[in-house]
Amino acid sequence: MDRKNFLQSLAVLPLATTAMKLNELNKMTAPFNSTAQMPVLFLGHGSPMNAIEENEFVTGFRNIGKTIPKPNAILCISAHWETRGTFVTAMKKPPTIHDFGGFPQALFDVQYPALGSPKLASETKSIIKKTIVGLDDKWGLDHGAWSVIKHLYPNADVPVIQLSLDYYQTAQYHYELAKELSSLRKKGVLIIGSGNMVHNLKMAAWDKLNVDGFGYDWAIEANEKMKKFILSNDHQQLINFKSQGKAFDLAIPTPEHYLPLLYALALKEENEKVSLFNDKALGGSLTMTSVKIEAA
Ligand code: ZN
Repeated sequence: MDRKNFLQSLAVLPLATTAMKLNELNKMTAPFNSTAQMPVLFLGHGSPMNAIEENEFVTGFRNIGKTIPKPNAILCISAHWETRGTFVTAMKKPPTIHDFGGFPQALFDVQYPALGSPKLASETKSIIKKTIVGLDDKWGLDHGAWSVIKHLYPNADVPVIQLSLDYYQTAQYHYELAKELSSLRKKGVLIIGSGNMVHNLKMAAWDKLNVDGFGYDWAIEANEKMKKFILSNDHQQLINFKSQGKAFDLAIPTPEHYLPLLYALALKEENEKVSLFNDKALGGSLTMTSVKIEAA
């Protein structure tokens, strides 16, 4: 129901109900309180097993959570929600989606009961001008979101919405769309891109997962180059990832795990500082390198 129809429907209700409904409408449409500028994160999520394992990456997620003021809400751009067009989850209670196979039952048993935020969903829709954003009521929280956010907010007491990746669009388009989210940072919204900078599962050395920091030469080369571009603010080189040669081609066989990095970087403002954490290769063809952007 849009606002006009909603208001029309109020006309036929008794007065007390009308007051209540108006109150609800105000709550639904009032903007989030202004806050100091929230940081932005890119989290290398790696294996879904990070949701239930104890390891150095999980410790890294926990530690970074402690450095951030508690957000009013989280907007997550996950590698695992690709759509035609752009959508935001708009349900009040997003289900925990177990979008993987072949893992232990314990992982399928994980529930992350964070609430959604229809209010943030409509606010996000209204600030994006580049496209018409759809309000989604069918998705929820995929493992790109919950497997990492659960370590930042284990009590699931921060509402979370997701923004999908339109797989028909270019890296430049995603970068520009991400910039339109910038005003949310001053409303206590923590924006998280969740993917992996280097992510080539077909080439993964599954037998070397336990070899600390093992990365193929090309994976290390691509990761180092990406870090150099990130730290020197040379975002255009990262947007032009298809022209960076063989190491990048192998590191980014498909763009969905890489694009969330561009969402985070696009939100960096001029004098903000960038730091890296969980900066390590894993299983040959993955890197867990994660990024925090914050006021200097
Ligand atoms: Zn993934």
